[in-house]
Amino acid sequence: MRLTICGFEVDHQINSRLKHAYLRVGDDGLVQLRSSNLPLSDIEQFISSKQSWILKEIQKIEAKPTITIAKNILLFANMLNLDQVRDTSSLESRKDYDRYYAHTAQNYVKARVELFAKQMNLSYSQIKFRKMKRRWGSCSSHAVLSFNTLIVQLDKELIDYIVVHELSHLVHFNHSKEFHLFVRSHLTQEASLRAKLKEISCILY
Ligand SMILES: [Zn+2]
Repeated sequence: MRLTICGFEVDHQINSRLKHAYLRVGDDGLVQLRSSNLPLSDIEQFISSKQSWILKEIQKIEAKPTITIAKNILLFANMLNLDQVRDTSSLESRKDYDRYYAHTAQNYVKARVELFAKQMNLSYSQIKFRKMKRRWGSCSSHAVLSFNTLIVQLDKELIDYIVVHELSHLVHFNHSKEFHLFVRSHLTQEASLRAKLKEISCILY
């Protein structure tokens, strides 16, 4: 129940089991009172007796610095403000971010896979995307390529490395010397990119 008492906005929550009255001031400056179903005159008297305490609490809240949290997103190895990135205005929760990464990965990574598959003259059966904790990508024996949706947080050249790496597993289903040479034949910076990725994570190896 909302009341205005002594100029304060009071939110009165009635709980018949309460023996005492409890008072606090919320961050929004709203006076919150919890008590049993007291008559209004008792409430007025109680609030009135606490006026100076309430005022002090409100002053404390007003003196607190307002913290504005810059809303950022890590995309292609750049920490960007949401205002700088298209279609990110509605990113509020972790779920929204996950959805955004999944959507971006599906668009960007799929196009890179198609491009490299053509260049390497390889065919796969399916591309899948999901958020993974331990790996950037994988290739199944049924030629299904899977990519971590968080891959779009990485540098674009690292994404290409992961794409070529997984595609190469269609030829070499291991991490043999031949496998790495095969990757290198399609991506000359293979060794440095592999090292760079290893530095960032121990996920792929
Ligand atoms: Zn591998």
